[in-house]
Amino acid sequence: MLRLIEGVHKFRQEEFGRRQELFKRLSREGQNPHTLFITCADSRVLAELITQSEPGDLFVVKNIGGMIPSFDAKGSTNSTAAAIEFAVEILKVDDIVVCGHSQCGAVAALMRGLRDESMPHLSEWLNLAAPVLSVLEKEYRHLTREEDRIRAAEEENVLFALENLQTYPGVKSRLEKGTLHLHAWFFKIATAELFVYDVAQRQFVPLTESEKKG
Ligand code: ZN
Repeated sequence: MLRLIEGVHKFRQEEFGRRQELFKRLSREGQNPHTLFITCADSRVLAELITQSEPGDLFVVKNIGGMIPSFDAKGSTNSTAAAIEFAVEILKVDDIVVCGHSQCGAVAALMRGLRDESMPHLSEWLNLAAPVLSVLEKEYRHLTREEDRIRAAEEENVLFALENLQTYPGVKSRLEKGTLHLHAWFFKIATAELFVYDVAQRQFVPLTESEKKG
């Protein structure tokens, strides 16, 4: 806790000064983030840090595994669904990024088949991504190394989340109008490399310089 308090003081003394005008403007005008960024609650994945974003830029949703329940998922009163509706319909973000990551504990638990009665919410939440296991079974049988299978599951988890995202009526209609764009990203913790899903190549490829223009 002491670390947090020290951090608050440091922020007020050092960082806030540099961004005082920005905070004032955001307070006056309200927020207008350009991107909804959905990722894992993992403490090593920091949306603002890895994209060098400023306050007001990103509407960030972090949850276990960066998972997205489909629009009509059972027990669908969940903060992720609410945040998607809010960001798409009210904030009118231009882009949605779903960002997975390496060494994801949620995906590992999903693969192990976590069934723990003392954590019913966690078990139910992980179960949202159960279809990822079927994809792994069907399309990745050739992968024998455990780390390759885990990476495949982590990537498929992102693609499945993106699929579910498109079941939301607000997302669907804005995609049809061309006013919203979806992106699947993958962050490798050890090297801080960022990969983006390339639809044409049907795989995650390193973010290149050319993406800067996009
Ligand atoms: Zn994770």
